[in-house]
Amino acid sequence: MTKNILISGASVAGPALAYWLHRHGHSVTIVEKATGLRDGGYAVDFRGEAHLRILREMGVLDDIRREQTHTGAMVYVNANGKKLASMPADLFAGDVEILRGDLARILFEKTAPYTRYVFGDSIARMDEERVAGESTGVTVTFDSGAVGRYDLVIGADGLHSGVRRLAFGPEEDHVSHLGLYCAIFTVPNHLGIDHAGLAYTTPGKVVTMYSARENTEAKAVFYFGAPLTDIDRRDVAAQQRLLAETFAGNGWESDRLLGMMADAPDFYFDSVSQVRMDGWTRGRVALLGDAAYCPSSLSGMGTGLAMVAAYVLAGELAEAGGDHVVAFARYEEAMREYVAGCQKQGQGVARLMVPENRVIAWLLRQNYKLMPYLPGKKMIANSVRKTAENIALKDYLVRRSSQTGTIVSASSPAVIANPPA
Ligand SMILES: Cc1cc2nc3c(=O)[nH]c(=O)nc-3n(C[C@H](O)[C@H](O)[C@H](O)COP(=O)(O)OP(=O)(O)OC[C@H]3O[C@@H](n4cnc5c(N)ncnc54)[C@H](O)[C@@H]3O)c2cc1C
Repeated sequence: MTKNILISGASVAGPALAYWLHRHGHSVTIVEKATGLRDGGYAVDFRGEAHLRILREMGVLDDIRREQTHTGAMVYVNANGKKLASMPADLFAGDVEILRGDLARILFEKTAPYTRYVFGDSIARMDEERVAGESTGVTVTFDSGAVGRYDLVIGADGLHSGVRRLAFGPEEDHVSHLGLYCAIFTVPNHLGIDHAGLAYTTPGKVVTMYSARENTEAKAVFYFGAPLTDIDRRDVAAQQRLLAETFAGNGWESDRLLGMMADAPDFYFDSVSQVRMDGWTRGRVALLGDAAYCPSSLSGMGTGLAMVAAYVLAGELAEAGGDHVVAFARYEEAMREYVAGCQKQGQGVARLMVPENRVIAWLLRQNYKLMPYLPGKKMIANSVRKTAENIALKDYLVRRSSQTGTIVSASSPAVIANPPA
């Protein structure tokens, strides 16, 4: 039943899926467009039992806890850096928070011993093989000219997925812009921020700075409202120019942070968007994570959603005995409601994140000032947690054992026993 599976994208969804596919006995190759593992981005959260259970079963929860951010309050400041309001971390924080780059590294290290990683390449073309009218596999041609044959191809290549474009059509048919752009890069912690964040809002813009990696550095995060532009996603210089023009003279630390941008070891720039599709599978191709249902970077859900979906997709393949037609249909069915909840979360936050005008900015600040003292303050955190937990995870490993006659430990990747005949 072993399948030869190609995954596009080595960030979060791809390596998480590689882990589960390997545990179910498949052979996995991951192709990543970047020439190495991509660091960068701010923090991602895991919350609720569904997320924690998956991390625990993958054996990465302790690694993640060791490197968690421990970020405390978010302090809103005025142009002079004077504190206006403070939001305690427990109002929004998940159970464990880690820098996205650190998580990607942990998942890569976990899966590297049994996954074939190919960096600096990308899928250029996919052709379904047919023998006597029956689909037998996919022939993949890579940008490098290499050709490979796979049983299944999974697009875990993010918001601007190449697999989605090849199998489902142009990006504009599936991606909805939420009206914001976001830039994130690492800077020295020149303000000496101690496990906290500082935020400065002006109409249509937010600049935040968070201490990171035990205060040894900081992350500068810029959000601004703008319609979708045709800026080249590969042209970092053009993106940095746009950011500099948008925030020049904006006040507080804006200019200083922009001045550090050119020396940043990482620079992430993208639209805040959602991917909305009627279906995530076609033939022998399936989409996973942001490529299929990006809830937006503001939802706080993208990473947990991708990890849950990797578990479900690999599990359904195992449960269907490798029959991808059955497994893909069950994967879509199992994820549909969960995805809808996570996406709703993203839309709500996008509306609140960047105030449109001074009046809304003022109202939001009053709200932030009052929030820590309101009796219903836990409601927001609880509602996000409920969304993250709104899925019943099957125990695929145990179920598979009863079907194949092979007992597989739920806590160890090894086959631990074969039942007597
Ligand atoms: C550098 C970076 C920084 C990020 N920062 C944040 C953040 O601060 N906060 C947040 O909430 N989310 C952030 N995200 C998104 C976050 O990682 C995802 O929302 C979530 O973890 C789901 O991950 P994913 O693996 O589905 O997609 P992504 O994390 O977007 O990963 C997609 C991967 O596919 C690769 N790829 C893209 N196109 C191709 C192609 N044609 N061929 C091969 N590989 C390809 C990309 O290089 C990337 O490694 C960031 C993503 C990246 C890549």
